[in-house]
Amino acid sequence: MHPAALWKPLTGNRVSCRLCSHFCRIDDGRRGLCGVRQNDGGALYTLVYDRVAAANLDPVEKKPLYHFWPGTMTFSFGTMGCNLSCAFCQNYDMSQPPRQGRPIGGELATPADLVRAAKQSGAASISYTYSEPTIFFELMYDTAELAQAAGLKNILVSNGFQSRQCLEALSGRIDAANIDLKAMNPTFYERICGAKLRPVLKNLVRMRELGWWLEVTTLLIPGANDDDAELRELATFLVRELGADTPWHISRFHPDFAMRDTPPTPLARLERAFAIGREAGLTYVYVGNVPGDAHSTTNCPGCGARLIERTGFGVQAMRTVNGKCAECGRLLAGRGLP
Ligand code: SF4
Repeated sequence: MHPAALWKPLTGNRVSCRLCSHFCRIDDGRRGLCGVRQNDGGALYTLVYDRVAAANLDPVEKKPLYHFWPGTMTFSFGTMGCNLSCAFCQNYDMSQPPRQGRPIGGELATPADLVRAAKQSGAASISYTYSEPTIFFELMYDTAELAQAAGLKNILVSNGFQSRQCLEALSGRIDAANIDLKAMNPTFYERICGAKLRPVLKNLVRMRELGWWLEVTTLLIPGANDDDAELRELATFLVRELGADTPWHISRFHPDFAMRDTPPTPLARLERAFAIGREAGLTYVYVGNVPGDAHSTTNCPGCGARLIERTGFGVQAMRTVNGKCAECGRLLAGRGLP
């Protein structure tokens, strides 16, 4: 066990975890909702500081980040555990076992080990991902500090359900984030994800204020969060609160975990969501997890030229000069564009 950050003692050896917006109150000897933070004798400990469950070298496009150092590789890792319990989770083998009291697997990898591996791999960044990085905050925080010193960027791939204190602590460490905005419906968050919508919306706004490069992902689930009016509200929120040049990734659902009876998202619904995003004023809307890579190209918002072409998670062509359209000179939103 490793001492946890962001908690406060309560009476009777109880503690209040301040890491995410659940703000669990945890009795002595018990764990919080995520299953990876334990009260031991009136102090809170993390159970995953030395338990890296997955580490890989991925294209940054796989996070997905399309406007942040495109074409580079990012060293990605995560531990087991999550503070949410989404019925549609596509990574439940990593995210859910600790919540169910099952063993927490993984291997020791210190922050220095992780940064060394990232440098040796040729990655331009480290991504905190796969499960929910909020719940391995201490490992992320220490690794991000060393990564910065080593000249690597730090990327957060998250459900955005942090506490405000957690976000502020990460403010100077994180360069870019892809955040799930799973729906605009509070009931969806409560019933299907075991969370609340409002903290996620507030955190998105705060991340933008902190100057992080921000892209947003919505997994479109037939009959659950694909109502036209709700999608319009979501896209309008992105335009109004985060800016019209915030990339929005609409991702295709595949049956998984507790939603195996729900069919994959019909392509027509993805097309409809794409159109709603564009009509709401979003400049960059992408569709993921679909054959043929429809809507995976970045077009110039000025002249329409095809500027960044992608296949799968690979970049096939980039026609920007100093981050501007090679045809008309229009500046593209993003960081690290060639
Ligand atoms: S990280 Fe969130 S879910 Fe886990 S113990 Fe803390 S408040 Fe609870």
